Amino acid sequence: PLSNSLQHMDVTTTLHPYTDARVHEEKGPLVIERGEGIHVIDSTGKKYIEALSGLWSVAVGFSQTRLRDAAAAQMEKLPYYHTFAGKGHEPSIRLSEKLVEMTPENLTRVFFTSSGSEANDTVVKMVWYMNNALGRPEKKKFLARNKAYHGITVASGSLTGLPANHRDFDLPAIPVVHLTCPHFYRFGHDGETEAEFSARLVKEAEDTILREGPKTIAAFIGEPVMGAGGVMVPPAGYWEGIAALCKKYDILLVADEVINGFGRTGARWGCEKMGFTPDILVTSKQLTSSYMPLAAVLFSEAIYDAIADNSHKIGTFGHGYTATGHPVATAVGLENLAIIEEQGLIENAARMGEQLQAGLAKFADHPLVGEVRGTGLIAAIELVADKATKRPFDPLGKVGAKAFEIGHEEGMIIRNLGDSLALCPPLIATAADVDEIVRIMGVILDRTAEWLAGDGAD
Ligand code: PLP
Repeated sequence: PLSNSLQHMDVTTTLHPYTDARVHEEKGPLVIERGEGIHVIDSTGKKYIEALSGLWSVAVGFSQTRLRDAAAAQMEKLPYYHTFAGKGHEPSIRLSEKLVEMTPENLTRVFFTSSGSEANDTVVKMVWYMNNALGRPEKKKFLARNKAYHGITVASGSLTGLPANHRDFDLPAIPVVHLTCPHFYRFGHDGETEAEFSARLVKEAEDTILREGPKTIAAFIGEPVMGAGGVMVPPAGYWEGIAALCKKYDILLVADEVINGFGRTGARWGCEKMGFTPDILVTSKQLTSSYMPLAAVLFSEAIYDAIADNSHKIGTFGHGYTATGHPVATAVGLENLAIIEEQGLIENAARMGEQLQAGLAKFADHPLVGEVRGTGLIAAIELVADKATKRPFDPLGKVGAKAFEIGHEEGMIIRNLGDSLALCPPLIATAADVDEIVRIMGVILDRTAEWLAGDGAD
């Protein structure tokens, strides 16, 4: 029986995302009550290292009072106003300016939304609007990748390349072609080098463009380093080849930096780390450390001009949200970016990232571990049934779910993406924090192996 009344209220009222509802009714929610640095504390007082930064998003930790103060000050001055029909307000204007300053030079324009999903829907509509304005309405299709995560709304969910996000919702609902996931460990052929793998995937993209017709392909969207699909860092040559194809066939290149942005990979932007320059960049999550919902689409002057020059012909850009550029969210974003700069958190992520990757690398020899991968402060450890053949567990995800549960018992929140265990700690993590995360990860692996040898064997 769920004696805690909050738990009772929850199971009798709420449908949770990505949660087995009937199991949840029995178990009840883990009610998180407070945040403290890289930790969160539940309603029983148990403290956890939040080693996934919530949902890959809390750069500055869970108790940054400067963000609270920035929100309160803006609430007092102007709690809400919109940005429709030429209206503006100081925090959204200043944040636009800041983002243009912080992103690659060719990205000169900003459009705000409240979530990464809405931002990617905005990208789709922006690209379609632009091509309609340029008199080429047939240029509509998107190229994306299997295992990509771009959100869950109808358009962004269509771009996402995870079967479970499509199957039960009749997606994709927009024209999109999904290409091979650039994960060498899983999709490299026997005897193939990483360079050959990259070249094969670039050729697949080009063959697809030619088959579909270059005039029908509007954009290629990708996370520079893939996140929710399992943390995959594409091998050298991949992004270089994709960027060259986009140029060759007049296809816009979209970097979905919703997880990568603001230092997560150890560089300011994932596209900088991977060595390519997008025409459109999407950011969210660490933009406000997720203290307020906010996302932004950064795009080039050429796209802006195509829209601006034609708005009197085909109608103004009829797209926007009640909360586009929300003053409290943008004020919090500005303060959050100031903290990231003042505290050198991108540089810290690069240093701590090296320590994390080196610490995790030693688990490569663990009998359960197929691959340890990542870059900067984002990583995953893939568990396999057979190390030599890379054979996954069947059913996929059961062992990962057990490891996730053991993590909670050991006081660390991770995420299991199938049987890949993801880590993505806040950018404020110290050397001692990283040591502790690696130590607990070792305990999780050992306890999962023990469980598999005993109760988990059947
Ligand atoms: N794009 C990427 C790369 C993401 O990881 C996510 C969320 O995890 C999204 C888009 C969607 O963002 P949101 O959950 O804010 O809609």
